[in-house]
Amino acid sequence: MLIHFDPADIGCGHIRQFLYEYVERELDARLLMAMDNHILSCSECRELADSYRLSVETARRHLEQVGEARKIPAEFKQELVRTLTGN
Ligand SMILES: [Zn+2]
Repeated sequence: MLIHFDPADIGCGHIRQFLYEYVERELDARLLMAMDNHILSCSECRELADSYRLSVETARRHLEQVGEARKIPAEFKQELVRTLTGN
C-alpha cells in the first residue's frame, strides 16, 4: 500500500488512521520505523496497538481451540481497528 506522509510528521492521528497497516507491517519501512518510535514514546498509541494485538491473539487462540487453524480474516481485523479507533 502506498501512503504518503512525512515520517517526521507522524503523530497520534496517523497511528489511529493507519493502525491496521502499522500492526500488519504493510507500510513503507521508513514509516514503520517512525511509527515504532512514536509508539515507544506515546503511551496512548502504545495502548491502542497493544489492544489490537491482544484482540487478534485472543481471536487466533479461540480459532485454534475450535480446531479452525486458519488465519484471522482481514475483515475481522479491520473491524477491530474501527472499534478501537472509533473510525
Ligand atoms: Zn500517539
